[in-house]
Amino acid sequence: MRSPIALAVVVAIGCVGPRGPAPERAEGPGGSAHFHVRVDESLTTLWAEICFAGEPPSALIPMTEAARELLVHVYDSEGEALPMDDPDRIDLGRFGPGDCVHYEVDLQGASRTSRGALRRRGDLLITQSLWLWAPSQRPDTASYTVEFELPRGMHVSVPWARDGDHYLLEESCFRTAGNSVFTFAEPRRFERSGVSVEIARLPGELEVDGPTLDRWIGAAVDAVAGLYGTFPRDRLHIVTVPAGPGSRPVAFGLVRRGGGASVMLLVHENADADELVSDWTAVHELTHLTMPLLKSGDAWLSEGVATYYQEVLRARAGLQTEEEAWANILDGFERGSAVGTRRTLSDEARDMRQTGAYRRVYWGGTAFVLEADVRLRAQTGVSLDQLISRSQGAWPRRSTWQGRAVMHRFDRLAGERLLVPLFDRYADSHRFPDLSEVLGELGVSRRNGAIVLDDDAPLAHVRESIMSPIRGVPERGLVAVRGK
Ligand SMILES: [Zn+2]
Repeated sequence: MRSPIALAVVVAIGCVGPRGPAPERAEGPGGSAHFHVRVDESLTTLWAEICFAGEPPSALIPMTEAARELLVHVYDSEGEALPMDDPDRIDLGRFGPGDCVHYEVDLQGASRTSRGALRRRGDLLITQSLWLWAPSQRPDTASYTVEFELPRGMHVSVPWARDGDHYLLEESCFRTAGNSVFTFAEPRRFERSGVSVEIARLPGELEVDGPTLDRWIGAAVDAVAGLYGTFPRDRLHIVTVPAGPGSRPVAFGLVRRGGGASVMLLVHENADADELVSDWTAVHELTHLTMPLLKSGDAWLSEGVATYYQEVLRARAGLQTEEEAWANILDGFERGSAVGTRRTLSDEARDMRQTGAYRRVYWGGTAFVLEADVRLRAQTGVSLDQLISRSQGAWPRRSTWQGRAVMHRFDRLAGERLLVPLFDRYADSHRFPDLSEVLGELGVSRRNGAIVLDDDAPLAHVRESIMSPIRGVPERGLVAVRGK
């Protein structure tokens, strides 16, 4: 079951992180830099030293408003304080090649004042956007490395690529919120479906142990790899947060993309192993990673993709039956049609934090994705799986996509103008979509509460192909597309 409150929390925090300022691209200054980061045992303060290999950038800039407020001191290697007149920048005008700048961040204040920080007993989950200041110029040729110096027994867990004793920062680390965890519990690490998984566990009561968490996340990774054959990332960072008792296994999940993929999952203490493995939340959150970040008015599309596939992929992976998947989809359509402000789906998605019309947005989006996948398969022989698969290389070209641009790309790949008109119709629709015709063609109905699947329905073969495990990814029918 999906509680409206928990769902509201997922969306209120957002499946997306805040975006930092765009970098000033400039010739010359802003070469490679090395960050040396220290914290104290009680995690009250973070000290960062940044040393520049070449000419330093003109300034360091905060990624968020909160980061400005948490900055305590800035000084040079002789300990001489730098003036902090402009809260929007640490001016580096007096620094030259090889120089280092130092700054101090109030971690205690972060967990008191910011939604980006969560303290549990002696551990801290904090978005790097609160403590990592960005070089104002970041040429493509520059590399940024981070090394941590931690108190005895403390570990750091981050979604970043590791190289020996230091981490390599991707550009997204300076633009988008990501998770960093300072913890006294050793992170769990394993490989699954070609993905390096790291799980950081915040302390608290949980019925399940570490190996069970591995099994749960491993099953979700396998399920999402069932979308087109491989998981969309090489690395996956997970943070589990115990959430007290609850009627469902997982209270909510949240994807952050800064520095790599990281998913926070709030787990109820009474959840057992089987409940976690068959729950939809982890599969939903991981499915978001197969798509790019979309602008807020198109949240109905990103949530529709994640909600559609949370049901389809669990059926393909054997985590639920095909009948259970259809029952969940039909239930969702019923709940989605019962709420909303009768404005367009696009307006509803933009304002869902204020209106609380999450179910209309999530399930209205799911209706679109189901209809899109069915029409594609029936009319072009190409599946949505294939279009998503073929677009992975294109997603990083923009930090945020328009939903319509994604549909345009898919239409060009499928060789038919099909999804853009359908997208426009859904985006502008004031009513919850009526999928009875599509479900009838697929042969999906409900009689006396039970799902009935009709193998003689005209599109029964499409229904079967949607819910069956993929067998490789045939390229047949796809048109080569040069990305913009
Ligand atoms: Zn979502």
